[in-house]
Amino acid sequence: MQNFGEPSFRDSVDLMFNRATALMDLSPGLEQKIKVCNSTYTVRFGVRLRGKIETFTGYRSVHSEHMEPVKGGIRYALAVNQNEVEALAALMTYKCALVETPFGGSKGGLCIDPRAWEPHELESITRRFAYELIKRDLINPAQNVPAPDMGTGEREMAWIADQYARMHTADINAKACVTGKPPHAGGIQGRVEATGRGVQYALQEFFRYDEDKALAGLSGNLDGKRIIVQGLGNVGYHAAKFLSEEDGAKIVAVIEWDGAIVDDDGVDIEDLHQWIVKHGSVKGYPHGTFVAEGAVVLEKDCDVLIPAALEGVINLSNADRIKAKLIIEAANGPVTFGADEVLRKKGVVIIPDMYANAGGVTVSYFEWVKNLSHIRFGRMQRRAEEARHILLVNELERLSSDKGLGWTMSPGFKSKYLKGAGELELVRSGLDDTMRTAYQAMREVWHGRADVEDLRVAAYIVSISRVAATYQSKGL
Ligand code: NAD
Repeated sequence: MQNFGEPSFRDSVDLMFNRATALMDLSPGLEQKIKVCNSTYTVRFGVRLRGKIETFTGYRSVHSEHMEPVKGGIRYALAVNQNEVEALAALMTYKCALVETPFGGSKGGLCIDPRAWEPHELESITRRFAYELIKRDLINPAQNVPAPDMGTGEREMAWIADQYARMHTADINAKACVTGKPPHAGGIQGRVEATGRGVQYALQEFFRYDEDKALAGLSGNLDGKRIIVQGLGNVGYHAAKFLSEEDGAKIVAVIEWDGAIVDDDGVDIEDLHQWIVKHGSVKGYPHGTFVAEGAVVLEKDCDVLIPAALEGVINLSNADRIKAKLIIEAANGPVTFGADEVLRKKGVVIIPDMYANAGGVTVSYFEWVKNLSHIRFGRMQRRAEEARHILLVNELERLSSDKGLGWTMSPGFKSKYLKGAGELELVRSGLDDTMRTAYQAMREVWHGRADVEDLRVAAYIVSISRVAATYQSKGL
């Protein structure tokens, strides 16, 4: 995606890292240790498909092992390459530190067009790729725990978990070797939508601060805000759905790989999603206006732009024409280093990827803990909590009737209050808390230091300080 002689994705991440470390007091040796990618394993393997042997190339990069296991998704796309996987692994290190999930950073990828293969063929390919990684401990509950990314989802994670269990029949923690599994295969409620939900919580938190909104030229809350979303996949679909259905935001355009749907009255996200599931494309969607050259729609006037597809889509070729007041990087690396500078000068506020899309790894962390503890969250507490609430409600009602006060609780309040928290409620609460806490850590640096002008540098400073502290406590 990069052009105009811009640095590669990995160099772009390193340049952003350098902007932050220039403002920090790290020894050059430690700075270098944190920045470099520890290792990248490349594997080429064959699978017999359609009567012949197909060879595939895959990668697993480990950026930093300051905490283990290391964590990061597995991407399926034709454009996957070592540079991209290493950039994504580095972002995982910084992301995990920022949202305080106790992992190092890793990432994997397979050069494949998943649309070109039938499900049973994808299963054979995935199992073989997993086998290659498992036998080198590049998938392991204690060392390296993948998750979904572009082109992969629950289905692939279930195959990987099963492959690991077949190769480690006596490992009682086998399920914790990968996250993002479906709930019936050891997953957790709320993981599928976690990254999109995290984007929603991040925006809600941003809109709680008048000072931050003012810097972006915004005011009020999310209700009625005009939002453009690029990529209606896992992350983009859930973010757009929650923001429009729950916060009253108006999705004025959705950009997909083969064009965009523009509708100033607001796109019905669920309806468009169903259309894409059925037709594989936004083309022919009967509402709004179809624009064949989707990328141009990134430049349309809006309050919030959510790039949720791929890296490098906002670059030196279009940055000066972007009209959004606020960009929230739901994808990894959607704004290049050069574009970031142009946008900053224009006064556009950017909520950086390492924070904005951290909802996925946060709920993956909950899933991993659930797998290791072998019990569903809330299973022990839920009914005890309900019993205590019933006691209180009954007592209040008794007092009211004894004193002849005639107080009655509204049925809505009563049923809501009495309900104990199940796994989904606990996951949402943990995710919301994580997104708020991490934002507050970033904004403290953003507003607290005169030499920090943007949230990205603030995010890097918070996370690099934490990684540095871990290395130092290990005696490095
Ligand atoms: P996905 O494969 O589910 O969805 C990607 C979507 O983008 C698809 O709908 C695809 O058609 C669309 N797309 C592809 N090329 C496009 C183009 N040129 N223009 C517009 N749309 C295009 O992937 P995802 O899991 O939603 O991941 C999207 C981004 O979010 C990636 O950068 C990924 O690294 C990041 N991310 C994902 C997760 C997760 O939990 N899935 C977590 C953190 C970050």
